Amino acid sequence: MNFLEERIAKDGIVKPGNVLKVDSFLNHQMDIGLLEEIGREFKRRFADKNVTKVLTIEASGIGMACFVAKEFGVPMVFAKKSKSINIDGEMYVAEVESFTHKNKNQVIVSKKFLTPEDHLLIIDDFLANGCALQGLISIAESAGATVEGLGIAIEKGFQIGGRVIRNLGYDLQSLAIVESMDAEKGTIQFREQ
Ligand code: 5GP
Repeated sequence: MNFLEERIAKDGIVKPGNVLKVDSFLNHQMDIGLLEEIGREFKRRFADKNVTKVLTIEASGIGMACFVAKEFGVPMVFAKKSKSINIDGEMYVAEVESFTHKNKNQVIVSKKFLTPEDHLLIIDDFLANGCALQGLISIAESAGATVEGLGIAIEKGFQIGGRVIRNLGYDLQSLAIVESMDAEKGTIQFREQ
C-alpha cells in the first residue's frame, strides 16, 4: 500500500451509497503533511509534462491543488460553483452534477486566467462518475488550453468515471483506486497499481 492507501485504510469511513468519508484528513480537516506528500507524488508522476497551471474545482480540490501547484511552481486556478444564470461573457462555463449533493451547478472560470497557451494539470480529490473532471476538461477546451494530465487522490474504480476519462485518451493518474468497499463491514479493497 502506498502512503495514501494506508491513510484511507486507517481513517477512511465507508458510508452507505458508495460514499467514502475522508473528512478527518482530506476534505474537511486537512492533514497538511499529507497534502504536501500528494503534491510531491503528482510532481513525480507528471515530471515530464510542461505544466503552466493547475486547475481544480471548489471546494475540496483546492487544498491538494495548492501543493501540486507549488511543486510545479505555477499558479492554481479553481472553477467556482455559481448558481447565477446570467453569467457575463467573461467566463468559461460548464455544468457539473454533484455526486455527493445530487444537484447541478454551473462552474465558472474567468477568461482572464486560462488561455490557449496554457498547459493544464487538472486535480481533484475524488473521481466517481467523472462529472467534475468532464466539466473541467470542457472548460479547458473552451479556453483552447492543453490538458497535460489529470491527477486524482481517490478514484472509486467501481464507478465509471475513470474508464470514461482514460477512454478519451487522457493521462489520468489516481494515487489510490478503491476497487470495492463495504459499508456494513467497513472494509476497503484497493486496486493493485
Ligand atoms: P464525480 O463528478 O466524478 O461523479 O464525483 C467527483 C466529485 O464528487 C468530487 O469532486 C468529490 O468532491 C465528490 N465525491 C464523489 N464521490 C465521493 C466520495 O465517495 N466521498 C467524498 N467525500 N466525495 C466524493
